Amino acid sequence: MQYDHILIRYGEMALKGKNIKQFIIRLQENIQHKLAAFPNIKVKRTQGRMFILLNGHDPEPIIEKCKNIFGIQSMSLAIKVENDPDKIKEAALYALKNATNVNTFKVSVKRINKDFPIASQEMNQVLGRHLLINTNEIKVDVHHPDLEIKVEIRLEAAYITSSVIQGLGGLPVGTSGKSLLLLSGGIDSPVAGYLAMKRGVQIEAIHFHSPPFTSERAKQKVLDLAKQLTKYGKSIQVHIVPFTKLQQEIFREMPDGYAMTIMRRMMMRISERVCVNQEILSLTTGENLGQVASQTMQSMNTINEVTNYPIIRPLITMDKTEIINISREIGTYDTSILPYEDCCTIFVPKSPKTKPKREKANLFESKKDFTKLMDEAIAGIETIKVSARDTETKFDGLF
Ligand code: ATP
Ligand code: MG
Repeated sequence: MQYDHILIRYGEMALKGKNIKQFIIRLQENIQHKLAAFPNIKVKRTQGRMFILLNGHDPEPIIEKCKNIFGIQSMSLAIKVENDPDKIKEAALYALKNATNVNTFKVSVKRINKDFPIASQEMNQVLGRHLLINTNEIKVDVHHPDLEIKVEIRLEAAYITSSVIQGLGGLPVGTSGKSLLLLSGGIDSPVAGYLAMKRGVQIEAIHFHSPPFTSERAKQKVLDLAKQLTKYGKSIQVHIVPFTKLQQEIFREMPDGYAMTIMRRMMMRISERVCVNQEILSLTTGENLGQVASQTMQSMNTINEVTNYPIIRPLITMDKTEIINISREIGTYDTSILPYEDCCTIFVPKSPKTKPKREKANLFESKKDFTKLMDEAIAGIETIKVSARDTETKFDGLF
């Protein structure tokens, strides 16, 4: 006797009505993708349930992978046996004896298969008695048991599960379309990407790079951050935009107080162009209200003027400590705090306007034609696909 299945529960998705099928299929694909390195594992769907068949494999590393898959609410190790009362008794006893720190238990039987001869309530008692007879000093507690042994008697078989392992929740990545994540090397944007993924969004990333003012290591840091996000989804394409000339021109030609605002507007314009090329319907940023000059209400209003694409800002109302906590949990913090400069910290105007106006930004921009430099930046984009499996693939000529 051994645990030979992992039962997957997908809470919130049950609310999705007609779309449920598509969500479940995507979840199944995402799990299969994450477990591809374990060739003997199978991911199966039966009515209303998803199971991973372990085929003798140690469940621990598989559970660890599943803890990073959005859409899984919780998991339990399960034993599958025939619909035979004696087999079910044996499995329930195995589950109880294999649990640690258990002084009290409860059995909950759910009989879905009405051909099974013993009704749920009666089966609870049969099993309870069997467990009490075959163990020492363990008692029944129906209100607050240390361990609840659940028995589901389904059409094809009976499943016995005990402890519940929490999953990440959220929606399976890929069920909410794609978004382009503006990924800097900072703490915030990777967290924003993670939270968008949690709502089922698949991300591509864009990074504005200004060599030689920003180093190769700063670029590598961004690729490393993207790679850390692949832990929660599939591979991620990172579009690296050569931003130096455009940025220098902006800082040379535009009034000091507006240079940063105009630089941000250029980032938005370029990002939107990448979206069009990649058939992406929204942008995601790590913006957070009130954090810095570019993130005041007035500033966001002026920056946002240049695109009508929806901008997902998962962090907009969070406190910095909340953001840092998530960043630690998801494993991006240590990379984010590495000291390499990014393009926004290099070109810092002496006195950026905290309340830049749309009219003024438009007026200043109208005095200089940036089209050529923008086109050049877009034509120079280098796309790198990062994947969890240590590979980086470069693409040329996407733009
Ligand atoms: P972060 O911690 O993500 O760097 P921040 O607190 O430093 O954010 P800003 O510098 O104002 O804030 O940047 C706001 C957002 O703009 C970032 O979260 C990111 O989404 C985007 N951004 C900033 N710099 C870049 C860059 N070089 N490339 C791509 N996106 C950027
Ligand atoms: Mg930053």
